[in-house]
Amino acid sequence: MTKFPVFDGHNDLVLRLLRGDVTAEQVTEGLHDGHIDKPRAQSGGFGGGMFAIFVPSPGNKAVRHEEMIKPAYDIPLPEIVSEVEALDWTDRGFAALEDLETAGAVRLCRTAAEVETALPAPEMAAVMHIEGAEAVDREFERLHTWHARGLRSLGPVWSRDTVWGHGVPFRYPSDPDTGPGLTEAGKALIRECNQLKILVDLSHLNEKGVDDVARITDAPLVATHSNAWAVCPHSRNLTDRQLDMIRDSDGMVGINFASAFLRPDGRMDAEFELDIMLQHFDHLVQRLGEDRVGLGSDFDGALVPAPIGDCSGLPALVEALRSHGVDDGLMAKITHGNWLRVLRKTWGA
Ligand SMILES: [Zn+2]
Repeated sequence: MTKFPVFDGHNDLVLRLLRGDVTAEQVTEGLHDGHIDKPRAQSGGFGGGMFAIFVPSPGNKAVRHEEMIKPAYDIPLPEIVSEVEALDWTDRGFAALEDLETAGAVRLCRTAAEVETALPAPEMAAVMHIEGAEAVDREFERLHTWHARGLRSLGPVWSRDTVWGHGVPFRYPSDPDTGPGLTEAGKALIRECNQLKILVDLSHLNEKGVDDVARITDAPLVATHSNAWAVCPHSRNLTDRQLDMIRDSDGMVGINFASAFLRPDGRMDAEFELDIMLQHFDHLVQRLGEDRVGLGSDFDGALVPAPIGDCSGLPALVEALRSHGVDDGLMAKITHGNWLRVLRKTWGA
């Protein structure tokens, strides 16, 4: 494993398992045609990250990608998903992560110390994350159960509406101020997460939702997989005002590798050079400081830049950062140090 193992803010490998694209054993053996498996993680220095449990909407993702190569787009958000349907997916998501551990692909981590120990290990460090909290009940009983099972991070919404609030649609060009923020129930969810020390993810919230979380939470503000709006004016990206709030809370941002959130033209097209990622990096470091920027690849859920390709291509990014003047100290922060700091601060251990 490299000197700079990557802890990554977001991936969707679990969804691949739930869809039957790959089994836990195949992930361990390196028989996955997606972005992440164990042998490629080792060769690329992918030490682990937040593994999202996500409930997909019915519909064809390819159609959405087709729409997102146009010069401007506004993808209608899918219908609300019912609690019952979400619960089935979410239960199977937890089981899939436990299968990955049994198969020897990951080590499930519940503390920052466990993440730090697991990062250089052959198994990937995996933190359980829920992206879109449709399966959480109003009394938060399941939230407590899942926290005991290892849940350490949660996004109240994945873009589509939930009982907790309104997310940000996939719209370009657009600022993130796209509608109302959290509901009263959503505000109670943030307070409950605070009590349990579950990280609240701002990615996919709209501007008012982010403001709501900022008013309520006592934890650092974190966007696990989002980019700089000043470089790519996409609704999913963070404005300078939002970045300033994140800096003031001593939180952080994980740079998203999704082509449409990186490219200044907002197109879902992977053919471009990494200097565009460096523009986001520069802007985020300038706004947030060196201690508040990390990575949040969206591997297995997004079209990533061709020069990276999958998790075995992370050395290309490390090399690009090095050529850009990033020294060893800052490289350690960007690849994992900043995440460890913020997780420790959020979880208290
Ligand atoms: Zn996402």
